[in-house]
Amino acid sequence: MKFGGTSVGSLERVRGCAEIVAAECARGDQVAVVVSAMAGETDRLLTLADNLGFGLGDEETDVILTAGEQISAALMAMALTEQDLSSRSFLGWQARIRTEGPPGAARISGLDASPIKHAMSDGWVPVMAGFQGASGDERLRTLGRGGTDLSAVALAAALKGACDIYTDVDGVFTTDPRIEPKARRIEKISYDEMLELAAQGAKVLQTRSAEFAKARGVPLRVLSSFAEPGQSEGTKIMQAEEIAERRIVSGIAYARDQARIALRGLNDNPGAAATVFAGLAEADIGIDMIVQSPSREAGLSNLEFTIDRRDLDKALVRIGESEARDVSSETGLAKVSVVGLGLNRRADVARILYGALHEKKIGIRTVSTSEIKISVLIDNDEVENAVRALHAAYGLDNA
Ligand code: ASP
Ligand code: MG
Repeated sequence: MKFGGTSVGSLERVRGCAEIVAAECARGDQVAVVVSAMAGETDRLLTLADNLGFGLGDEETDVILTAGEQISAALMAMALTEQDLSSRSFLGWQARIRTEGPPGAARISGLDASPIKHAMSDGWVPVMAGFQGASGDERLRTLGRGGTDLSAVALAAALKGACDIYTDVDGVFTTDPRIEPKARRIEKISYDEMLELAAQGAKVLQTRSAEFAKARGVPLRVLSSFAEPGQSEGTKIMQAEEIAERRIVSGIAYARDQARIALRGLNDNPGAAATVFAGLAEADIGIDMIVQSPSREAGLSNLEFTIDRRDLDKALVRIGESEARDVSSETGLAKVSVVGLGLNRRADVARILYGALHEKKIGIRTVSTSEIKISVLIDNDEVENAVRALHAAYGLDNA
């Protein structure tokens, strides 16, 4: 059972979660708990490090950040003890979570759950601090923002159990209910669609945790900790084959603050683009929505792609070193994505997309498609309009 930041945002909330755990134990289940830092705490800690000029990605910043989850784990163990359960906390390294990769964005390379297993078989409810582990040289590492989801899924996999992610909404919705009140809770969704929704901007689950759950076949649920114990219906995430009634489209996700970079007059030998992308990869900049087209001048081509707005300055420095004749960039863009397993089976999917956006006079900059998603690049200010228009056009509105 994983509890996120808002779920443990106050002592009252921690106690509410402890009651949910106690109810689960009373049903006879063996439970391990994984917690995030209290809401806002990780940002607060990060600011401390930032103010000294040590941002995310620094080893000592990671030592500061892991403290957020350390506090919640102890508070949760106390609240469970109050519920007459035997409980104790485990920091990431005490649970033997090993990591590889850089500070601020480490991956879990090994999880010897034996200390947690022993605690459980002795009748304890272990509470593990999420978002953290230790590197090969015994330094504390964090797992990327939202990384407690990954800690929980990895622990569930090691214990051969199921993973319940408790948050402040009752499951995964067809889109963000703050934008479209007609959004509905999705009862069941496939790993692939969940993964795509998370990758395209839905914030309910960290993308890497969805990937991990899919790879290891960990049964997942997203539930609300704000409901009375046992009252949240939530969303089940499972293999597509296990879902009998499938929709063409499952949901609409969005990500604001995208930037577009255009390189004109690049040598049309693929090696030139490869050099550009190699530089960006080295700087750890994720690329999305690539469009390449021939230039009017023979032997040259134009290359456009989108990146996260916060990577723009870093990217332009790298691209400055390339041989493109003319580099321009544009900000204030957003990506809206339609996700569904049925998209590739339907011929009218593009018609619906263009029709709905045209009707609302929303200009499309770029489109990209994959088997289970279509993304459009639009102005930041049009996100609400586009999300609502597509939600209705693909038949997701609540009756
Ligand atoms: N506390 C960390 C964060 O805010 C990890 C998490 O909550 O999952 O990113
Ligand atoms: Mg989270």
